[in-house]
Amino acid sequence: MPKLKPESLLVSAGRPHTPGAPLNAPIVPASNFLLGEGAVYAREDGTETWRAFEEALGALEGGTALGFASGMAAAAAVFDRIPLGGRAVLPADAYQGVVALAEAGAAQGRWVLERRATEDTDGWLAAATEADLCWIESPSNPMLVIADLAAIGAGPRKPGGLLVVDNTFATPLNQRPLERGADVVLHAATKYLGGHSDLLAGALVVRDRDLADALRRTRTLQGGVPGALEAFLATRGLRTLAVRLRRAEENAAALADFLAGHPLVQRVHYPGREDHPQHVLASHQLDGHGAIVSLEVAGDATAAERVCSATRLIRHATSLGSVETTMERRAAYAGQEHVPPNLLRISVGIEAIEDLQADLDQALAVLQDGRTCPSPRTTHL
Ligand code: PLP
Repeated sequence: MPKLKPESLLVSAGRPHTPGAPLNAPIVPASNFLLGEGAVYAREDGTETWRAFEEALGALEGGTALGFASGMAAAAAVFDRIPLGGRAVLPADAYQGVVALAEAGAAQGRWVLERRATEDTDGWLAAATEADLCWIESPSNPMLVIADLAAIGAGPRKPGGLLVVDNTFATPLNQRPLERGADVVLHAATKYLGGHSDLLAGALVVRDRDLADALRRTRTLQGGVPGALEAFLATRGLRTLAVRLRRAEENAAALADFLAGHPLVQRVHYPGREDHPQHVLASHQLDGHGAIVSLEVAGDATAAERVCSATRLIRHATSLGSVETTMERRAAYAGQEHVPPNLLRISVGIEAIEDLQADLDQALAVLQDGRTCPSPRTTHL
């Protein structure tokens, strides 16, 4: 069979092959197996439910995939590769949970932490020659900055140093970092891969077999393994990723244009718009511009919170990548001090675009009328 396109792999990879088997790998809620030949204990040996997810994701990203209990469990396994006293480099804009993990390890003296602007390609190239871990998020959360993955991936690295790309925002449909020289791809499967806000799961995908074995061993020892139902739901989510993401992207592009022309919006961040500083790189590197749009409302943090509280269709909730549109003020989170206080991140879903626009329009109108809302808060995850 010729090499399948990602849309076909999403639907077909990771299915049982034996005659008489169900089309979908079943949910296997096993902890242990009868002793003899084969599996012994699920934390070490996995189950066919995990393997279906891992086979499908591995085929999509072009490597060996390992499922984890969450994106953060996957991240923790990667940070465990840094030798004591080593050097980790993180982007200036990144998911605050990963930043908090990196800062906690640095505070304990486990590694030295350095931050670099995502778009500083020369800086990353220089840092990679001395770093044990270069962690890149592209597009980044929530500023949607793009890293030049091909340039950084082709550059020299310290022997044993790892280039990790968090591919949560792009998904393997839009970007396959292993093809551009990354050593490890991370997914919060909680987001687009699952796609319905009903699970926590994570994954790593790697090219190198020894690295895969080492990370599997870490997973076994740390115990951050996926649950049976979660692995099933993640695989099921993959099956519809292409239609969900493409529809959400269409909505995101239309919404970004609508918001850019809105008098109560100061600025829109969306890599698909020509006014995004890295639009050309994004269009070259990504097969789709994604479904996250960030906007800065005309006003301060309180104004932004008022807009969030005034939506009716759009959910005022954290997280992203689901079929329903969610929106929140990211500077409300500790560790997000670089994010403008009036910035709202929208994870655009698959609703009718007319309804999304109308909802945002009436919610933004709160800035002109007397409707009140709670004052800005800070949240620690
Ligand atoms: N990476 C990114 C880009 C994220 O947005 C998140 C969570 O929001 C994570 C990693 C962590 O994933 P999880 O919440 O499944 O641990």
